[in-house]
This record gives sequence, structure tokens and C-alpha cells, in this order.
Amino acid sequence: MLPIIKEKWNEILELMKIENDIAEVAFTTWVIHFKPYKVEGNMLTVSVEKENLVLDANWFSKKFRMPLIISIAEVLETEFDVRFIIPDGTETDSDMEEEESKADSSAVNTHLNPRYTFDTFVVGKNNDIAHATALAVAEDPGTYGNPLFIYGGAGLGKTHLLHSIAHYVLSKHPDYRIIYVTSEEFTNELVHSIQHKQGESFKNKYRNIDMLLIDDIQFIVNKESTQEEFFHTFTTLYESKKQIVISSDKPPKDINGLEDRLITRFKAGLTVDIQPPNYETRMAILKKRAELDNIKVDDESLNYIATNIKSSIRELEGALKQIYNFSRLRKQTINFSLTKEALENIISPEEKRPVTCELIIETVAEHFNISPDDIKSTKRNKEIAYPRQICMYLCRKMTADSLQAVGNSLGKKDHTTIIHGEKKISDDLKKDENLQNTIDVLIKKINPPK
Ligand code: ADP
Ligand code: MG
Repeated sequence: MLPIIKEKWNEILELMKIENDIAEVAFTTWVIHFKPYKVEGNMLTVSVEKENLVLDANWFSKKFRMPLIISIAEVLETEFDVRFIIPDGTETDSDMEEEESKADSSAVNTHLNPRYTFDTFVVGKNNDIAHATALAVAEDPGTYGNPLFIYGGAGLGKTHLLHSIAHYVLSKHPDYRIIYVTSEEFTNELVHSIQHKQGESFKNKYRNIDMLLIDDIQFIVNKESTQEEFFHTFTTLYESKKQIVISSDKPPKDINGLEDRLITRFKAGLTVDIQPPNYETRMAILKKRAELDNIKVDDESLNYIATNIKSSIRELEGALKQIYNFSRLRKQTINFSLTKEALENIISPEEKRPVTCELIIETVAEHFNISPDDIKSTKRNKEIAYPRQICMYLCRKMTADSLQAVGNSLGKKDHTTIIHGEKKISDDLKKDENLQNTIDVLIKKINPPK
């Protein structure tokens, strides 16, 4: 973990500066001397590498510990506690850490990013239903629809919505026991509890709560014992009318390797999607972000970002951050020419990837959680053969390639195979509404709307 922290360290410090309005002079006097020193468990030790310091570690802790914890959580999406040491050997004394961490225990335990709230979430056509549904669920947990299942591509705001729900519920019911976990953490915790024979306490922890928010459920595919345990957790909570909120990168039925009984349960609740934002929403998000971070940036620059970065809000925000850092480095205010220069590496002139069979294969493979090589292989099992036929159909529909060219892209398949595959999907589409949805989603992923 330490190398990752080191790699992102400047970004973490910059973010801390912006979010806490740390004065330039304080930044250059103290903060630039902070260096990540070691990691033990979730404790990060930061050394203050400045000579002739008159201040002790407690002083730094009081001033910078919470801001750092928050910035680290935002940049790395992992929670660390922080303590300071000064090269002469003094450390933050542990009493104080304890005192402080008690006060913040609710925020740390529930693992929530303080910035991810409904207030900071910009609503557009791409996410208005997801937003309204999430808010309704937060208003009346356990009654509106259970589970609430939110799906959408990377960086489109799923985690932001999940945290917003938790913040909202906690603001009205501070005593609610709410757990937010990623499915990966859930899995790791389960494995740990099995290894240490603490299965009972794991069960107690997850089954005696008021609300469970589980992020990125797609990561429990093919993990049988996790799915088994999750099913029982789910059922227990569901039967006692406790709200469950789930996020995923695709709709329940498309998650390959997920047990049928879980898919059935998920489908019985409310399912909402988040699509990539359109231009207006991208502009609105950028403006909000600039306002929150106190970054002065002209409209032409914002327009340039919003026109060129379309698929992920995380990338939109990243571009803004990059311009900001660049302007600080250059000691210049942000303008269009600076923006273009700062983003040279991110934005290439031919922004949109042309639709080719190769792109279609990559996208379909990712969607179904298999590899492009599987698609090009001769494997005949349904999990692979069906996505392969979808590729045949989409290559014929979305590119001008000949049957033979499509056959070649799909691993030297005969042209009759392609005709057969295309026809199979066309026929299925007439009777299978789910397939139509899947195809629509895939087309949008391959060729995102402007
Ligand atoms: P996901 O979990 O879907 O990958 P995140 O929730 O982590 O995406 O969002 C990525 C970044 O984009 C976060 O910083 C988040 O605050 C921001 N973001 C996403 N959607 C919105 C929105 N509608 N309004 C404002 N910020 C957003
Ligand atoms: Mg997420």
C-alpha cells in the first residue's frame, strides 16, 4: 500500500489544500514536508521532514489529521488513520488519537465519504430516475422497494449515490446501524471470519443492522461461499424489512456467474440505471465541482473538457484537477490555451473510437465478464457462444465489414457461421425483451451518445 500512497501523495496533499482552504504559506511551510513513512494495518505514519521544527507531532495531528484522512479516503478510496512523527522521534501520543477517533467513530465505521451526498450530486437525464429512487428509498428505508439495485458504468456515480443514501438516513436517524461495504470487502471479511472461526460474529454483524449498502456486487461472481453467505444475509434483512441497496456495473440478469436465486431476488426489487451524462449535465457537473473546490476556470475551458470527455465523471473531475495543478505549477490563471496544454495527454484530437469489430468484441466481452480471446475461441459453452453470436450480430449491424471480414475478426470463423449467428440473435430479439435491452445497452456502450 505504501508505494500507492507515495505515488498519489501530491494529489492527496493538493486535494487537502483545496478542500480545507489551507493558505499557501501554511502549505509551503508545513504540508509540502509531509512524507508517507510507513503503513501498518490501516494506520499511516506521516513524517514531517523539516529541520528545526518548533512544533510537535500533536500539533500537526490536531491541525491536519482529519483533513488528511478525508483526502486519502477520497483519492485512494480506502480508509486510513493517520499519525505524525517528527524526525527527532516524537510521535502523536496515542491518548489523543483515541480521543479524536472516538469522536469521529461514526464516520470512520460507516466508511462514508463526506462529500458524497445528495446535495453535491448533479441530476441530469442520465441519472434522474436513479437519483429520485435513491432519495425515496432514503426517505423510507425498507418500504419503497427492496432491494434497490443501481447499475451503470465505471465512474458514473454509483458509489456517490450509495453514500448519499447512507448520509441522508443517518441525518434523520443517527442511531440507525448502517453498513456500507464493497462486495470485495464483504468477501474478504467472510474469508477472514472463516479462517479465524468467527463465523458467528460475522453473521451477527451483518444480520443485525438496519440497512446494508453493498457496492460493486459484480465482484462476487463465481465466489460460491460468498454468494451463499450473502444470500442468507440478504434473506434475513429482507424478511425483517430492512433496506438493502446494491450497485453493479450491469443489470442483474447480465451478471454472469451469479446464482439464479440471487438474480431472482435482485429482480424482485427496484432496478435503476445510470447512463453516461449528456453535454449539459457534464457542464453542470464541472461547474459544481469547480465551485466546490474553489477553482476559477473559464467557460471555454469547461466546454473543452465537457466536449471531449464523455464516458466517466471521474475522468471529468480528473481533467479539472489536472488543469488546476498545471496552473499552480505554471503560476498562471486558467485559460483556454493553458487548458489545452494541460490536457494534451488525456484528450487526443480524434476523441471518439471508431466502431470496429475489435471494439465490439472488447465491449461485449467486458459486459459478459469474459475475455476477447474467449469470444475468438472455438469454445462452445453457452456463456461464451451466446456473447459471440451477439458480436456477430453487432458487427454486422454496426460496421460495414463483409461476412468474411467479420469472420476473421472473430477468430477465423466461416462466413456461414456468421450468417447463422446473426440470424439466431435477430430471431431471438423478436421474442426476448431482455435481449433487446441487452443489445440496447451494448450499442450505447460501443457508441456512446454525444
Ligand atoms: P462509480 O461508483 O459509479 O464508479 P463514483 O460514485 O465513484 O462512480 O463517481 C465518480 C466521481 O464522480 C466521484 O467523485 C463522484 O462524486 C462524481 N460524480 C458522479 N456522479 C456525479 C453527479 N451526478 N454529480 C456530481 N458528481 C458526481
Ligand atoms: Mg464505485
